[in-house]
Amino acid sequence: MSKNYRAELVGVIGDPVDGNPTGVMEEAGFAALGLNFRYLTIKVLPQDLEDAIRGVRAFHMRGINLTMPHKVQVIPYLDELTEAAGIIGAVNTVINQDGKLIGENTDGKGFMIALENEGIPVKGTHITMLGAGGAAKAIAVECALAGASEIKIINRDKTRGVALAELITSRTGCTAEYIPWTEKKTVPADTNILINGTSAGLFPDIDMCPDLDYATIHEGMTVCDVVFNPVDPLFLQKSRANGARTVNGIGMLVNQGAMNFRLWTGREAPVDVMYKTLEAEFSEE
Ligand code: NDP
Repeated sequence: MSKNYRAELVGVIGDPVDGNPTGVMEEAGFAALGLNFRYLTIKVLPQDLEDAIRGVRAFHMRGINLTMPHKVQVIPYLDELTEAAGIIGAVNTVINQDGKLIGENTDGKGFMIALENEGIPVKGTHITMLGAGGAAKAIAVECALAGASEIKIINRDKTRGVALAELITSRTGCTAEYIPWTEKKTVPADTNILINGTSAGLFPDIDMCPDLDYATIHEGMTVCDVVFNPVDPLFLQKSRANGARTVNGIGMLVNQGAMNFRLWTGREAPVDVMYKTLEAEFSEE
């Protein structure tokens, strides 16, 4: 049999994209399983997105990740969307199934797997979400589809907060409510899971954290953060100081990467290798 010198291609397109660490994690996974896959980190400007997606088809890429500012704008160039991607209205992962490009959103699913791995159930819980941007939306929709009984959305911008609450109430079986973000916001006492879905605390602003009355966080709560750099943001440190159990953003990042790995390669992802690679990457900063 003749040798195959052609690598299977996947990657991420966005702008800015230079600081995106996903490629290091995915390539470590490919190497661990001896797969001839390459993960390319590609700068694509908004006006070139359509051409870039044509390129995904022309290069027979197995799939692609999308990051800022393409997650919503890519939709018209795809052939199909999964249920969650359709409700969220954003795609972070494309799978090329024999020439058909399918848009999926694995951000929220990665978060759900991270919670499941910690043995934290979502069904029947009261969730309080800080933020209403892309990450908050993806997580809130997945929590709603997984049977959360109620989601409270606390966001600075009212329009975005109300829109997310309405989306959840109208498109899933869960009820959601918007709550304005006033100074030193009280966390609703019946909260089972509190999630920081904002970028407050993200490197380099590591001394920042969501403006809450931290005394209202208690030991009955699980507190999660989407911020993964730093690995243990101030928000989680303060929540733990009040007795809450905490879950960091690395689990979400690694598990969505592992899910993408499975969707593209058809192989189970070496999650431990991918986790350790990312952790090492961040500890270098
Ligand atoms: P968006 O720009 O879509 O949304 C940002 C959200 O954060 C908005 O709701 C905004 O509020 C809010 N916000 C920003 N700063 C503050 C602040 N100081 N106080 C209160 N609210 C604030 O960003 P994304 O949703 O794409 O990303 C958010 C975070 O999630 C980033 O840190 C990103 O790195 C992280 N992320 C993590 C992933 C993981 O796998 N762990 C995956 C994807 C993202 P407003 O609407 O009022 O402006």
